[in-house]
Amino acid sequence: MTRTNIISLAFFMGAFGFLCAQEKEPTNPEATEAYEPIPPKVVPGKNGAPPSDALVLFDGTDLDAWISAVDSTEAKWHLNNDGSMTVRDKSGDIQTKRNFGSVQLHLEWRSPKEVNGQGQSRANSGVFLQKRYEVQVLDNNDNDTYVNGQVGSIYKQSVPLAMASVPSGEWNTYDIIFHTPQFSRGGNLTKPATMTVLHNGLLIQDHFELEGPTEYIGWPTYQAHGKGPIVLQDHRDNSRVSYRNIWVRELD
Ligand code: MG
Repeated sequence: MTRTNIISLAFFMGAFGFLCAQEKEPTNPEATEAYEPIPPKVVPGKNGAPPSDALVLFDGTDLDAWISAVDSTEAKWHLNNDGSMTVRDKSGDIQTKRNFGSVQLHLEWRSPKEVNGQGQSRANSGVFLQKRYEVQVLDNNDNDTYVNGQVGSIYKQSVPLAMASVPSGEWNTYDIIFHTPQFSRGGNLTKPATMTVLHNGLLIQDHFELEGPTEYIGWPTYQAHGKGPIVLQDHRDNSRVSYRNIWVRELD
C-alpha cells in the first residue's frame, strides 16, 4: 500500500467514525437536554394590553409615533376619546416614524357600523409592513370582492385561509408575524419576505412567502431594500376605519 493510499484510508475511516458518532443514539435523557440560550422573561399583557417588551405605537393618547406618509408632517387622522383613531378621509396614509425589520405586530381595527359603499370601497384600509407589503383591511360582511383582495388577504398575492371578521362596528384583532426579505450585496433576493396572520385569533395566513410588494396593478417584483415603516392606509373613499391598541415586538 502506498503512503497516499494509507493516508486516504485513514481519512475515510476517520470520516466514517465521525458519522457513526453523529448518528449514535443517546442513552440517557440528559444527553438531549439544552440549558442555553436562556429565553428572556416577558410579562404578557392582560386583556389585550401590550406585553412588557413591546414597543407601543398607539395607545389612544396621541399620534406621536406616526407621521403623514404623504409629506412627513404630523399625522392628521382623528384622535377619538375612546382610545382609538380613525382615518381622516383623503388626508393620506400614515406611517410610523421608526423603521422596522422583522416584527410581531398587534393591532385592532373596526369598520363603521353604518355601512357605506360596496366591494373594495366599503371600509377599505390596510396594514403595510415596510411600506410595501399589505395585509388588507376591509368590511367583507355581506360584501363580496375578489378573494385575493378580501379582508385578511395579502393583497393580490394570498387568499386568506378563512374569513374571520366580527360584525361591522365591532373590533377585530390582527396579529402579524412578518419576516423581512433578504438580499445579496448585489441586490438579488436571497430569501423572500414571509407573513403569518391571525385574525381574531384564527390563522388566516400561514407563513406565506411574498412574491414582492403588494401591487395594485401588475405583477410583484422585489427591489432590494432595508427596514421600513409600518403604514396604515387611507383608501380615499370615506372608509372611516378606526384603529386602536397597536404594538410591536422587533424580531431582529
Ligand atoms: Mg387596502
